[in-house]
Amino acid sequence: MRDAITRYEAAHQAMGTEFTLVAYGDDPQYLMAVGNEVFEEIDRLEGQMSIYRPKSELSVINRTAAARSVCVEPKLFALLVNAVDHSQSTGGAFDVTAGPLMKAWGFFRGKGRIPENSEIAQVLRRVGYRHLYLKRAERTIRFDVEGLELDLGAIGKGYAVDRAVEILRHYGVTRALVSSGTSSLYALGAPPGERAWSISLRNPYDSEKAANVIYLRDCSLSTSGNYEKFFKQGDKTYAHILNPSTGKPVENMLAAIVLAPCACDADALSTAFYVMGVERSREYLATHRDLMALFYLPRSRGQGFRRVILRSDGADAIGAFFTKTAARKRRATRKQTSKVSPSRISGAWATAR
Ligand code: ADP
Ligand code: MG
Repeated sequence: MRDAITRYEAAHQAMGTEFTLVAYGDDPQYLMAVGNEVFEEIDRLEGQMSIYRPKSELSVINRTAAARSVCVEPKLFALLVNAVDHSQSTGGAFDVTAGPLMKAWGFFRGKGRIPENSEIAQVLRRVGYRHLYLKRAERTIRFDVEGLELDLGAIGKGYAVDRAVEILRHYGVTRALVSSGTSSLYALGAPPGERAWSISLRNPYDSEKAANVIYLRDCSLSTSGNYEKFFKQGDKTYAHILNPSTGKPVENMLAAIVLAPCACDADALSTAFYVMGVERSREYLATHRDLMALFYLPRSRGQGFRRVILRSDGADAIGAFFTKTAARKRRATRKQTSKVSPSRISGAWATAR
């Protein structure tokens, strides 16, 4: 007889958010032990990467690397290389050195403030991944400008999710969902009897309402939204994602959501696409594989929003599938009648929870 399958659920505060884990298996004690190891690793990563902790390895790098080369722990070094690759490939829309801008806008331990243009110009002198020198052979990092700071806020939580999934796989867990709050998640396998994990994406104006439901299997999803961290002044809202080329918060974007094979890439790219907007992201997807992006864009009047979905080559195979909304159903029917095959619509996914 088959053993009963148990569902294990746990949550853990780290990196300024709540990590959650749902996992299925036949031994609850075993799942709990694996879950504890996952959260221990996330705590260890926070201790290494936090800019809120003066003793973290990242804080030491930030204080020292303008004066001399600093040797970096191998996995953190690999993450920094990955971050710089994303900075390069997105033309600096994702920039791992955006930290000083966050401070100037009062997002670091502050309530938010609007800096003068002259102050932004000053700060921009010490922002830019081009000021970073990573030597792979020696595993060192060096800054060529004083006051530069690394900030892994747009990639670290996705990276932590990937590390969690590595641990789950290592211990033979094949059905799990790991999330770093509202930032990034990875759907490993599917719940028992289902074909995929069902993920509800929030309405950008109302956290209680769903804007889309998406089904994921062996796929990650990351969201960058204007509703995550922001301050208001007058009738304007200033959100926590900054355009490194202007030094100012991005406007006219509600959320950018990226689906990718790993959460580290999805995290960095959701921030980048939020900055780049639809057209530049479309260009990016034309030269990169295995990605899907969803944008929620404001309408000029009222609280409505419109969706744009973009797909790169290989996107159909990454394990992500949207449900058909009433409007999409109508379009799919129209497509069928006009003999365009609705190849992305697979009924099999529609049964998932
Ligand atoms: P979340 O924190 O909800 O996961 P993001 O992944 O979009 O959201 O990351 C936003 C964080 O990244 C900010 O709080 C800040 O620390 C940092 N950041 C802001 N703008 C940029 C940028 N253009 N490039 C890289 N990091 C950024
Ligand atoms: Mg991000």
